[in-house]
Amino acid sequence: MTSKSAVAAARATVYGYPRQGQGRELKKAIEGYWKGRVSADALQQAAAGLRRSNWQQLADAGIHEVPTGDFSYYDHVLDTSVMVGAIPDRHRAAVAADALDGYFAMARGTQDVAPLEMTKWFDTNYHYLVPELDPNTVFTANSSQQVAQVREALALGHSPRPVLVGPITYLLLAKPAPGVDEGFDPLTLLDRLLPVYAEVLADLRAAGASWVQLDEPALVQDRSPAELNAASRAYQALGTLTDRPKVLVASYFDRLGEALPVLAKSPVEGLALDFTESAAANLRDLAAAGGLAGKRLVAGVVNGRNIWINDLEKSLSTLGTLLGLADRVDVAASCSLLHVPLDASVESEIDPHIARWLAFARQKTAEITLLARGLTEGTEAIAAELAANRADLTARTTSAITRHPAVRARTAAVTDADSRRPQSYPERAKAQREQLGLPLLPTTTIGSFPQTAELRTARAELRSGRIDIAAYEERIESEIREVLAFQERVGIDVLVHGEPERNDMVQFFAEQLTGYLATQHGWVQSYGTRYVRPPILAGDISRAKPMTVRWTTYAQSLTDRPVKGMLTGPVTMLAWSFVRDDQPLGETARQVALALRDEVGDLERAGASVIQVDEPALRETLPLRGADRPGYLAWATEAFRLTTSGVRANTQIHTHMCYAEFGDIVEAIDDLDADVISLEAARSHMQVATELAAHGYPREAGPGVYDIHSPRVPTVDEAASLLRKGLAALPAERLWVNPDCGLKTRGWPETRASLENLVAAAIRVRGEL
Ligand code: GLN
Ligand code: ZN
Repeated sequence: MTSKSAVAAARATVYGYPRQGQGRELKKAIEGYWKGRVSADALQQAAAGLRRSNWQQLADAGIHEVPTGDFSYYDHVLDTSVMVGAIPDRHRAAVAADALDGYFAMARGTQDVAPLEMTKWFDTNYHYLVPELDPNTVFTANSSQQVAQVREALALGHSPRPVLVGPITYLLLAKPAPGVDEGFDPLTLLDRLLPVYAEVLADLRAAGASWVQLDEPALVQDRSPAELNAASRAYQALGTLTDRPKVLVASYFDRLGEALPVLAKSPVEGLALDFTESAAANLRDLAAAGGLAGKRLVAGVVNGRNIWINDLEKSLSTLGTLLGLADRVDVAASCSLLHVPLDASVESEIDPHIARWLAFARQKTAEITLLARGLTEGTEAIAAELAANRADLTARTTSAITRHPAVRARTAAVTDADSRRPQSYPERAKAQREQLGLPLLPTTTIGSFPQTAELRTARAELRSGRIDIAAYEERIESEIREVLAFQERVGIDVLVHGEPERNDMVQFFAEQLTGYLATQHGWVQSYGTRYVRPPILAGDISRAKPMTVRWTTYAQSLTDRPVKGMLTGPVTMLAWSFVRDDQPLGETARQVALALRDEVGDLERAGASVIQVDEPALRETLPLRGADRPGYLAWATEAFRLTTSGVRANTQIHTHMCYAEFGDIVEAIDDLDADVISLEAARSHMQVATELAAHGYPREAGPGVYDIHSPRVPTVDEAASLLRKGLAALPAERLWVNPDCGLKTRGWPETRASLENLVAAAIRVRGEL
């Protein structure tokens, strides 16, 4: 590690900060505006107040350059669409009538006009609004928001660095507008887009910005030579402009790989790279490329998307190495701090010893400035802080929470055979047919039934002590009685208890598993005004007692038909939580899997002959680089099998996933060795059935025939015609009839009508066999 002073003083910076405010003031202001309770003026003032306090927090912590333009009323990709004038035709009138209302119409739709599609931002749980482009898209520069924020920050005495989505990432995230040929490649619009970026850059310079940051996370994915060439052309063009701020191109979430030399050679002044664990190869690649002579390197050494304290000495050592590779090295988090909660110091219910291991946005900011100081002044200047950090890291490594002997012994003893069902699939299928005696095209649902206001009230009343646990459980049981009676009346074949006791499919289990932590205020933006509080996988995971058996058994006691046990799978438990960074993900997944395996065993012993283990997140956690995917899929599928393989041959294991396209992971789905899989398919017209068939998928499948994302009730004709499409791909013996996903977000009236139609369609199509 270097202890001598660096040549140039290292600056501390971040790419973005949580937008919502400590009390989620932004959510309240925006939702108030939607309901007409908050005026546009008041909303704008609330937003300006949040920006002011965020910048002040950053400056007080010692951040030299503050980000602007990272703030958004809904989503920064949507803001970029507005900035370049890519407004879909169907929203033009609304935007012309009122910019703010038009903006929200693009985000959320209106009674008559559909919103932009929403999808996940790389492999995070943040969702962005997908730009819609077509061959005739005309871009026009609208820099007013960006310019206003630069002026705002300057007026408050800060040194602002506007942050924009870069042109390559913007185009790579876009998709052809509805009705446009699917083969249309938005990247072909690059030459039309660049002059608009040029105009925005000139405006930012005029406003007083000396640097601008262009985010290009899409370049950390596998990119074709044509795409790399487009990146090269774009930064050649922007770099050679004369009227612009200095340009920092930022990458994060993974290594830049082949894009690194492309950007290093381009005439921009700075490059930001991720140097955390998952992108460690950047260090090697940068050295191999001969460094960044003449450029500013912003080093993302503090993990911006997880919540653990930094290993400061390790980061200083990385920074020391980097000093030899660039003209100037600055310190940052690996990505925007948007993906972590705001402040760990307010989590008063977390054991203070463990709380010392946590760093949310505020704590990360302090780490960044400390590292910049260490780099500039030498490590002696921060010796006390380094010692305290070392002590916290040691406490974490040696804690009984992170190393539970019984859990360790159990995972270490897992053999390959433990994650394999002893019987072949055909043997199991036969035993299950005898056990269950289901008709052809059996009907079922995905698990949850409408989460009514009464259920949410009951949970709130339990939390506040207005009702006791017995009263709460009676309300849950009464809900289960209703859900069961309804399913029997409609004639569904495999029933569910409806999941009324679950606040959330991950949180419900996290709250009951030892080793998981919950936060009180750890909100992270999922999309728009929706925030989630991901639980923290803090220690070794074990199960103190059965978690779901009580409800499933109660439901089974009410009917002669089979009731499905319902669990969230290990991969999804990891994907929607903050994970440990001190052991491979596969090890954590294995611990969770063993805890769930015990639950599966208890459900079976309690009489469940069908058990569903949901893995909706299997695909979304797929690594960004193809080379990393086989390793991920290996541990992910093993964890699922470990969860489910301890059952008898005649116990039927179901799984469920919801995404329209999954052609690239059919093999992994096969590897799960589940007996039945239900999938989202209604909107893609059963395409998944064809994909399964094309891959020779040998087991039973239920491609959804009811799109639960819409309040629309599918007619019997529609559902029947989707089923016939399914039958064209899969034999009747292997086709199930079910909705796309759980019904928790639906109301009862449309749920009733839709499921009645679904059963009627199954009966009709059975009659045609
Ligand atoms: N069993 C869960 C439900 O029905 C599955 C939810 C999901 O796939 N996201 O709600
Ligand atoms: Zn689903």
